[in-house]
Amino acid sequence: MAIITRARKARKATAISQQAEEASVFGEAINYFDAAAASLDLNPNVTRILKHPSRQVIISIPFQLDNGDLEVFTGYRVQYSFARGPAKGGVRYHPGVSLDEVTALAFWMTWKCAVVDLPFGGAKGGVTCDPTKLSVNELERLTRRYAAEIIEIIGPDKDVPAPDVGTNPQTMAWIMDTVSMHHRAHTPGVVTGKPLCIGGSRGRVEATGRGVTIAIEAALEKMGKSLAGATVVVQGFGNVGSITAKLLAERGAKIVGIGDQFTGLSNKGGIDITAAIAHLSATTNKRRSLEGLAGSEQTTNSDLLELPCDILVPAALEDQLTQDNAANIKAYLIAEGANGPTTPAADRMLTEGGVTIIPDILANAGGVTVSYFEWAQDRMGYYWRESEVNDKLRDVLRENFDAVWETARSHKTSLRTAAYMVAIRRVIDSLTTRGIYA
Ligand code: GLU
Repeated sequence: MAIITRARKARKATAISQQAEEASVFGEAINYFDAAAASLDLNPNVTRILKHPSRQVIISIPFQLDNGDLEVFTGYRVQYSFARGPAKGGVRYHPGVSLDEVTALAFWMTWKCAVVDLPFGGAKGGVTCDPTKLSVNELERLTRRYAAEIIEIIGPDKDVPAPDVGTNPQTMAWIMDTVSMHHRAHTPGVVTGKPLCIGGSRGRVEATGRGVTIAIEAALEKMGKSLAGATVVVQGFGNVGSITAKLLAERGAKIVGIGDQFTGLSNKGGIDITAAIAHLSATTNKRRSLEGLAGSEQTTNSDLLELPCDILVPAALEDQLTQDNAANIKAYLIAEGANGPTTPAADRMLTEGGVTIIPDILANAGGVTVSYFEWAQDRMGYYWRESEVNDKLRDVLRENFDAVWETARSHKTSLRTAAYMVAIRRVIDSLTTRGIYA
């Protein structure tokens, strides 16, 4: 199994009183907030609010399997913050989904939206299931029931779901249709990441990978280095990993390692990413995998992350760079395509070792940025050209990357701490301007 899922089984649903617990993903995520808060001299009352999710919803989702049996899955929607606007964030279908994980992901969405200055709060949803074991019909029934269960709390002015691990534009189409049927009205702005024909945005499918690429280019520019000829390893070959690899290769980087949850592949001479993507599309069964791709050597997950390379892009799941492998990482630049791929202990070791890390909340913010464009287009009923979307994406990411870089330089901190500082300042500004309704 190429992508580490350690600790997932052990994760407990997080009650608010357990939030700071070290072993939980949310407990770990809070460490990053605390590090930035320490540099900001925050009012402890405000800090207390920001360390609690606004709303955590748990639902049971009964639905019928194709064989007629009824199954009940557990689903979640956590709305972490509404301070800057409607809550925003994806929906994850994965066996490791728990309240704790969804809370951490909603927490990260809050800072991600703020660090690129979008008028959104943060949210995340999920269903604990293995989507690779469900038929298309089962996935549709599951999704429609999930949407119906959270219908009162989502909407263009309340909370706007989008795709995440294990979901895709079709999932969003089913959510949009279910909500539209209940409301007896066309409601494209209730979700983003939809197919183009029902109000999706041009450029949304590629947006996260494009954003990772823009962030890498921005960092290399600041470091006086060039992407052309740089060697890159990408862990994860879903939407984010595959598109990042493709765009980096198009810009002259050499992709020397890629991997998905089933296998890892390496090739010092460079892997043909177009062939790798074509190989996945040609896989007709559920197990869409890089397995069997010709021309590369097979490797394991730990070897993939530790391969000699200039740039490492973890674009899979949380907790991939840990204190067990941090010392063996060779890259000088890490761009976090996934949410939470680096544990705080590994983050410390890598940063002290001189590795530059573009943190998840900045590196992978391209997806939600184009989600914001999609939401705006849906509300206007007027749709932009792809070049316009891509230009606006680049502007948003470059401007905010510069703000984070400058904060890191002036406060002598890591990019991660600087990104949290920029984001926390913005959220606090909105929170204190609105005041507390009590
Ligand atoms: N799931 C993506 C993320 O983690 C996209 C969220 C969105 O577009 O709302 O950033």
